[in-house]
Amino acid sequence: MDLQKTDALVIGAGTVGSMALWQLSKREGLDVVGIEQYGRVHAHGSYVGESRVFRTAVHEGGTYVRMIQRSRDLWRELEKESGRDIYSEVGCLSIAPEGFPDLETALGTVREYDIPHRTLSTEELRKEFPQHTIFDGDVGLLDEHGGGLRPEVAVMSALDLAEANGARLFFNTPVIGIEERSDGVVVRTTQGSWLADTVVLASGSWSTRLSPELDDLLRLQVLGLTWFMPKEPGLFVPEKFPAFLRDAGPVHFFGAPSFDGYAFKACTNPEWPVFRDVADVPTHHTREELIKIGQRAAELFEGLNPEPVRESVHHCAYTPDRLPVVDRSASGRLVTIAGLSGHGFKFSPQLGEWAAQLVAGEESTVDPRFALPERMKVLAERGPYTGGGH
Ligand SMILES: Cc1cc2nc3c(=O)[nH]c(=O)nc-3n(C[C@H](O)[C@H](O)[C@H](O)COP(=O)(O)OP(=O)(O)OC[C@H]3O[C@@H](n4cnc5c(N)ncnc54)[C@H](O)[C@@H]3O)c2cc1C
Repeated sequence: MDLQKTDALVIGAGTVGSMALWQLSKREGLDVVGIEQYGRVHAHGSYVGESRVFRTAVHEGGTYVRMIQRSRDLWRELEKESGRDIYSEVGCLSIAPEGFPDLETALGTVREYDIPHRTLSTEELRKEFPQHTIFDGDVGLLDEHGGGLRPEVAVMSALDLAEANGARLFFNTPVIGIEERSDGVVVRTTQGSWLADTVVLASGSWSTRLSPELDDLLRLQVLGLTWFMPKEPGLFVPEKFPAFLRDAGPVHFFGAPSFDGYAFKACTNPEWPVFRDVADVPTHHTREELIKIGQRAAELFEGLNPEPVRESVHHCAYTPDRLPVVDRSASGRLVTIAGLSGHGFKFSPQLGEWAAQLVAGEESTVDPRFALPERMKVLAERGPYTGGGH
């Protein structure tokens, strides 16, 4: 077999892959290759859909705060280096009934880590955010460092910068197999094979196809996106309408301001089962699902037309407790980053930086709980992910 050689090869040029390539390309003297099954920024990855919520007041508690704060610096760096707008710091507003557990956790996090924020009473919410229908007993938390990220622009920018720094990127080239050997990792693609000193596996929802070890650990959750037209679009522009998380009874909505000037994103997920392979994931909402989402959205936003003007359905690989996998194999030659569990876009720059540090054998601050053996212990205790909130 004729093998092309490189120092570091990244499989998947999506969210984690693009950030890893950007960081690796900054290491002097390192030959870096990226291989992507689709084109440069495509419509199939877990990053697709115009915006992603960025928040430091994470409901999941303090585990992520340092990763997110580091990522905030790196998002700014990516904007500076690329000259593109990626991160709109318009705030992220959580609205829920007073005492709602996720809100309480987020409040605890902002206080513990001194994250800039404001709390809002029912009356303050009604006065300052008339776009939301506020129920008696609702309270708010405005995370002032939160906002909206532009995922497609972010991935494109990181890839462009990696390439400008000398990384070689290959598109429309599916990887069909990997094999760790003593002299490196062999990566077989539809267009020839590579021998790399180190490989970063960043293939998202497709990871189980290349790494059977992940097969029991990861499950695919379906996530749908919907955009609605409000009567007064001027009220939903980023300057007036922060990204949001909304809990009302059993309903959880999340979304972003209007970036296109006529519609804003407001999404909730129907009860979809979890899947094992991307090929089985539905590609659209059903008519009934869209009608139901529209009815719920109309109850939560003022002057909203209940018919979505855009909709799409996506997937993301989840671990049982939603902590990611960040692992370096015993030989040190295979770095795996997977299972971003529906909330990992915001901290993907930190994951990319860790990937580069692990490849280069540098010190890093990776949480030891993210290592594969630890993740497998959680799997043994809890069983695989079976579904749940955004
Ligand atoms: C609808 C939706 C909404 C979300 N909302 C938020 C949010 O508001 N905030 C937040 O922080 N996170 C959010 N997330 C989560 C976040 O977007 C994902 O966790 C993240 O994008 C996953 O990144 P990834 O690198 O693992 O996968 P991807 O970005 O999908 O990248 C994987 C890449 O690998 C490529 N690939 C796979 N297999 C191969 C192969 N064999 N050969 C070559 N290339 C291959 C794929 O084509 C793809 O480009 C959301 C996710 C979804 C789906």
